[in-house]
Amino acid sequence: MAAIMNRRHFLAASTIPALRAQTKPLKIWMHCDMDGSPGIFTREQAWYWENGVREQVALEARALFTADINAASAAALGAGVAELIVCDTHHGGGNLIQDKLLRDPRITYLYRSVGVEDGVRRWMPGMNDSVHGIMLPGHHAKAFTQGAFLPHTWNSNWADFTINGQSVGEIGIEACFAGHWNVPLIFVQGDEAACAETRQQFPGVVTTAVKQGNGELAAGLSPEAAKLETARGITQAIANLKTGTLKPFRPTLPMTVTVKFRTVADAQKAAQKPGISLVDDHRVEARVGRHADVVKWLIGTGLDMTP
Ligand SMILES: [Zn+2]
Repeated sequence: MAAIMNRRHFLAASTIPALRAQTKPLKIWMHCDMDGSPGIFTREQAWYWENGVREQVALEARALFTADINAASAAALGAGVAELIVCDTHHGGGNLIQDKLLRDPRITYLYRSVGVEDGVRRWMPGMNDSVHGIMLPGHHAKAFTQGAFLPHTWNSNWADFTINGQSVGEIGIEACFAGHWNVPLIFVQGDEAACAETRQQFPGVVTTAVKQGNGELAAGLSPEAAKLETARGITQAIANLKTGTLKPFRPTLPMTVTVKFRTVADAQKAAQKPGISLVDDHRVEARVGRHADVVKWLIGTGLDMTP
């Protein structure tokens, strides 16, 4: 009971981001995907674990990603962030080249997006009430977006994901997860389509478009130009956060969440799990009581994960 009351007290205070931002040193979570990173213009670069990818292409892509994240981190620190958690989430993580990363006592690196906290595996260990905002560099648009570079939602089997009837991609899913702790989305970097998706779903969130894509190819800013644009975006995003006008993404609970699969077989398999029902040939649905459980109901990724 005491724990519940404490938590309520904390949530009440944390619903005023401006107050939190002004009274505490800024702590920011940077959740880094790679598909939307500058200089990543081909499928071979982005999905370098696939068969037939040239080793040199994979290494160069990871180096581009690492250098861009270094620049984004430096921009965040320069804008006054006192504590920065940099999490590698592309394909679950493992893309950042560790010995090329910016080393600074204010930065904590998570090389994978699922890790252990207090002996328990969870998604984004360390994401909690103490974080003031989440930034999403390197992001991509949701599945089936036109004029987008490698659009997808979570994996290639999902055709669409909805929360209370609203179609969202990974940007919306991650914002919802962070919303569990009242952490607002403050910044997205990616291709034009990812930025358009962000502006439509999250008005007021700063976006930096570094390329324009179409399917498996993209073209855009040089890595150096992209770093400057990204730094400008991050500086603006931190300034906006301090005004307290950005709200966390907290869809009404319990949320009705659905996944539309590309195949009937995948939908039928998912519908066999407890609490999941088939809506039609390709779609399953569940009711979810916590924002942190936005994808856990289907794939287990979230809090209190079973090993
Ligand atoms: Zn992704």
